[in-house]
Amino acid sequence: MTKMFKIALPDGSVKEMPEGSTPADVAAAIGPGLAKAALAAKVDGEVRDIMRPFDGDAKLSLITSRDEAEALELVRHDYAHVLAEAVQNLFPGTQITFGPATEDGFYYDFAPAPGRGPFTEEDLPAIEAEMRRVIAADKPLVREVWDRARVRQFFIDHGETFKAEWVMELPEGEPITMYKTGHGEADWIDLCRGPHLASTGKLDPNAFKLTRVSGAYWRGDPKNPMLSRIYGTAWLSKKQLDQYLVRLEEAAKRDHRKIGQEMDLFHLQAEAHGSVFWHPNGWIIWRQMEAYLRRRLDAAGYDEIKTPQLIDSKLWVQSGHWGKFRENMFVVPDEVPSTEEGKPVITGDAELLALKPMNCPAHIQVFKQGITSYRELPVRFAEYGCCHRNEPHGALHGIMRVRQFTQDDGHIFCTRDQLVDETKRFCALLDLVYGDLGFADYKVKLATRPDQRIGSDEEWNRAEGDLERALKETGLDYEVLPGEGAFYGPKLEFHLQDAIGRTWQCGTLQLDPNMPERLGAVYVGEDGEKHHPLMLHRAILGTFERFIGILIEHYAGKFPLWLAPVQAVVATIVSDADAYAGEVAAKLAAAGIRVETDLRNEKINYKVREHSLAKVPLLLVVGKREAEERTVAVRRLGSDEHQKLMSLDEAVAAFAAEAVPPDLR
Ligand SMILES: [Zn+2]
Ligand SMILES: [Zn+2]
Repeated sequence: MTKMFKIALPDGSVKEMPEGSTPADVAAAIGPGLAKAALAAKVDGEVRDIMRPFDGDAKLSLITSRDEAEALELVRHDYAHVLAEAVQNLFPGTQITFGPATEDGFYYDFAPAPGRGPFTEEDLPAIEAEMRRVIAADKPLVREVWDRARVRQFFIDHGETFKAEWVMELPEGEPITMYKTGHGEADWIDLCRGPHLASTGKLDPNAFKLTRVSGAYWRGDPKNPMLSRIYGTAWLSKKQLDQYLVRLEEAAKRDHRKIGQEMDLFHLQAEAHGSVFWHPNGWIIWRQMEAYLRRRLDAAGYDEIKTPQLIDSKLWVQSGHWGKFRENMFVVPDEVPSTEEGKPVITGDAELLALKPMNCPAHIQVFKQGITSYRELPVRFAEYGCCHRNEPHGALHGIMRVRQFTQDDGHIFCTRDQLVDETKRFCALLDLVYGDLGFADYKVKLATRPDQRIGSDEEWNRAEGDLERALKETGLDYEVLPGEGAFYGPKLEFHLQDAIGRTWQCGTLQLDPNMPERLGAVYVGEDGEKHHPLMLHRAILGTFERFIGILIEHYAGKFPLWLAPVQAVVATIVSDADAYAGEVAAKLAAAGIRVETDLRNEKINYKVREHSLAKVPLLLVVGKREAEERTVAVRRLGSDEHQKLMSLDEAVAAFAAEAVPPDLR
């Protein structure tokens, strides 16, 4: 007699299915529409191939394109396989390595055949065409379970040395899954955890595009051979792809590196990889942000401090960073090197210092000065903390990803009972700041206990519960990121959404009972005993560099008046108005407006174009008539209205009011 399995569906119904049946059979039993739409299955919470038979009774839900995040991840992974197959069809001798799904598509790393050289963008159209052929062939993606020795032998026989190396690192004895495109002996096959769609034909041949190629080291290590990485973007439909491509184009127009140059904000150069040279215009934005935030922090009960750049390695050993974070730290010997050989020579026994990669241990040193009573808690330290991290050159990106950066860092030392209140206060402050800076939309995520962790379940329950309570009482919706907390505590992440719908994680609040204990921070409790305070690492902007980069792209350089480096330019039409232009500029400057004059003997249209490109928000045009009538003709950046004639006094008063930072209005 055939064994029957009970398959429970999300609507609460149960289907009896004979042993050997698959989620696809269940879909077909429900209806042909679902059979066609189902991409994969969730069996007892695990995403699986729709053609993989049930192992026993199970809870089943079917994944369709409506489950967008899961469906995207699945199809992107499929496209990566199709890409690899297409490349090997077209370029025999190419070795395959890895090809994961990414946030907007997929990539695959190849080792091109010897002598061939890396792939280039010229190769992409032919590869795309071959991918479409593989999709059109609608070949099944077949899951097979092999043992390790067989997988290794297979890859050795096929000249796949990278795969053969990799498979030996998988635990011995565990079954390994291989995915084959087709049922035939010679069909393309890759080592893969899966899951995959039922066949290549489930992919939309018009919903992907290969975008670029780059170099990438085998397993990310510069000591290893350089591979050739091909990137693609992939979506569920052509419409989605087109929307994405428009968004990319818009993002390119807003690129902070391009706008930074047009507005003369900053530059980077090879002599200081990953550290920013701020120009006067860019530094004005920074100073405005810093001053604004300082006022907000003062009002929120923070004490600002400043801690050293160079700190002895002993402290980093104690804090644990020396062990875990060493390769990201710039280490400096505490000694003037001798230069006998023409290059610096360090004696072997010099004490080592490190440029701080974070401020936390330094804040604990300040906390530890004197004796703190429970009555003084919470202590809230803020620092515009300049940190250095040794990021590989390839990972750097404009001012968004740098090696020297300044965090709007802060650490709150509090008792366990103060956690909910401190979290609520932080959320309120962050909400205020994001609103002021033009980001009304942001998402909150709660990262919870990871598998590898310290602390009892009871402590974790309480910590996660307190953060949730604080979010609920603040009225914030949030999403849970299971397992993504730090090993010592849960954290909140704040992801803001910019003008073209991209999200950026900026704010964080991280609960940490561990570091105060490690570094011996204590307070005297009501009971007269010493206790370790709880430490909350928190930031609102993240870093000034990256946040200003985000602001530039969000506003496409058209900053609100209070942040704009040059707020107004007074431009003359004729030289007769030079004296009046000087007077207008002086009045604006006296009212606190950052203003310049443009008295050049150029056509007014030329001047308008130039100041528009430099994103000056206000252009005040003056000619003979304006001088006589004591008026100004105002053109606003990005406004369709032509120009507005205002009396000089009216204009000065209106712009001075508009230029006031949001917290002072
Ligand atoms: Zn795969
Ligand atoms: Zn910290």
